[in-house]
Amino acid sequence: MKVTLQNLTKIYPSRSKKESKGVVAVNDFNIEIADGQLVGLLGPSGCGKSTMLNLLSGLQKPTGGKILFDGDDVTNLPPENRGVGLVFQSYALYPHLTVKQNITFPLENRRGKDKLSKDEMNSMALEAAKLVQIESLMDRKPGELSGGQQQRVAIARAIVKKPRILLLDEPLSNLDARLRLQTREEIRRIQRSTGITTVFVTHDQEEAMSISDLIIVMKDGVLQQVGKPQEVYDNPGNLFVAKFLGTPPVNTFDGYVKDGGLYIGEERVLDAAGVEDCDVNVAIRPEGFEINPQSAFTCTVDRVEVMGRDISIVSTHEFSHNPLVRSIIGSENVNDVTEGNVKFDVKKNKTCIFRKDTDERIFF
Ligand code: ADP
Ligand code: MG
Repeated sequence: MKVTLQNLTKIYPSRSKKESKGVVAVNDFNIEIADGQLVGLLGPSGCGKSTMLNLLSGLQKPTGGKILFDGDDVTNLPPENRGVGLVFQSYALYPHLTVKQNITFPLENRRGKDKLSKDEMNSMALEAAKLVQIESLMDRKPGELSGGQQQRVAIARAIVKKPRILLLDEPLSNLDARLRLQTREEIRRIQRSTGITTVFVTHDQEEAMSISDLIIVMKDGVLQQVGKPQEVYDNPGNLFVAKFLGTPPVNTFDGYVKDGGLYIGEERVLDAAGVEDCDVNVAIRPEGFEINPQSAFTCTVDRVEVMGRDISIVSTHEFSHNPLVRSIIGSENVNDVTEGNVKFDVKKNKTCIFRKDTDERIFF
């Protein structure tokens, strides 16, 4: 199912004098999600992700704007008529019901011509359970399951009704690191095999990048960028997006463009022919450095971290925004790093510059 958001806005009423205008949790969002996509909705805590999901599900009403499902305006439809499957961070399973009863629960309240027989419900529950590989646990209670298994039950319950859209709100945050990795692959697999348009909310950029067809980056309720993970990583539209994606994070510096060159301090690091003189923020990915003793860009080595295939040179630079600059280079270069200074060439395709005054990306 295709999802379209038009000028979608949600303002929570203010509860104190300090927020006299209310909290703008979603601010004039316009976006289109193609059918069958797994979309990662990514942003820091408090940026409006859950609000967005609640608007999509119908649990909350927007202050303004529209939501279209396959072109139909669903903005005023109640949740039960939207065909949404919801999975929350806390799973929200019924503790006194078995796994099977939890999964069939959304089917129980169908009335009239939609009413299902016990056999129909059981076979639908089994189908959903098989998809998430918990069919052997049907008679257990949630308290007798691991966190990962509980999460699978929650997903089975969300997909048993064959929703048109699956909405997952930080579904992995209660799992330990290994299970998080496993479960995110699982979600990818389930999404692929069902083809259900899915919105996966997370504040973890690596999680979003690793499984999404498309990522939507938001900040303070405002859409920052939409694109395929690699595109957004390679071509961040602004400094926030550049910094939010990537581990280790991008290195940022105060810089300026002068006479067709990009400078950090006195050091000319790249050619920037055709760009007008201005102050910029420079963002260089950790993999954007190459040791070259003849180069101008000079950092002071703090330490070298060996990571096997690569090494990470942790250094300092006067104009770096962060205390430390992280560069990742092939381990064959480990002998080129000595105490004191290290000189780098900077790769242009791993460097982005943003105007200081407008935060606008400058292509060069
Ligand atoms: P996220 O899920 O990205 O952490 P939320 O959508 O939960 O963000 O919240 C977005 C903003 O809206 C936050 O500033 C939050 O404090 C505020 N907010 C969320 N729910 C309510 C509510 N029911 N009433 C008032 N403000 C709210
Ligand atoms: Mg949230």
